[in-house]
Amino acid sequence: MEKILLHTCCAPCSASIITLLQNYQIVSLWFNPNIYPKTEHLLRYETWQNYMKLLNIETIEVKADWLDDESLYGKFWLDDAVQCEMGRCYYCYLKRLEKTTEIAKKNNIKNFTTSLLSSPYQKHDTIIEISKNLAKENNLNFVYVDPRKIFYNGVNSVKKLGLYSQKYCGCKLSMR
Ligand code: SF4
Repeated sequence: MEKILLHTCCAPCSASIITLLQNYQIVSLWFNPNIYPKTEHLLRYETWQNYMKLLNIETIEVKADWLDDESLYGKFWLDDAVQCEMGRCYYCYLKRLEKTTEIAKKNNIKNFTTSLLSSPYQKHDTIIEISKNLAKENNLNFVYVDPRKIFYNGVNSVKKLGLYSQKYCGCKLSMR
């Protein structure tokens, strides 16, 4: 079975996409420097770890730079995101997917995708466009699936396990 690197934004969003990737050996990547504040970041991170352990899925994690000093969050993340002329969510997708392709290449994994595709609240077409461009630039294979119709089944299955499910997207501005 071929490996696929699944950029995983959180456990609830990953549940539905994982059911559509059964023909692959999934490796789940944690790289989400957008999630604020640190307590929330660590809660989602631990939930992801526990969920992947339960599913027996291999993991790779890349720590957000600002976690060691929360006051650096704005400097390293939000300032750049809000100044992005394509919008902060574009920046947020791009940075996480750039890291995904970097880690895929480093680990000789040809295929990649992202759990960002699962949520009906995300900008689906923008995620596809960025992923396709990065796949071309890096000679990788972007695996497109559309889990949006089964998104809530996935979220509910995670909740039933007693795992945490968040109430906002991730960055400081999405908390409002
Ligand atoms: S709203 Fe969500 S996708 Fe957009 S910048 Fe904030 S965390 Fe990222």
